[in-house]
Amino acid sequence: MDPFDAAEMIKAAWLQRDDAGDSLAVRLVACPYCGKADRVRELSREEISGSNPALEQAWQALAQSGQPALCGFCLNVVLLAGEAALPPA
Ligand SMILES: [Zn+2]
Repeated sequence: MDPFDAAEMIKAAWLQRDDAGDSLAVRLVACPYCGKADRVRELSREEISGSNPALEQAWQALAQSGQPALCGFCLNVVLLAGEAALPPA
């Protein structure tokens, strides 16, 4: 699966999720899209994929390159790799 398509699917799933709580850690890394350094939030596979096989596939496509995360400011999906946040594609 194309990483960009996977990121779009994960973003859509995150925006549609029922639980709007921000339970996971915000990582102090700069978003590669907007540059905000305090809005990048780790995503969990459970909150994104549920039992949807297509979303599971999208998650796997991204997770092989890093920890999927989402910028709460520009709402772009990024990957956390070490101390940096990278675009998924
Ligand atoms: Zn951003």
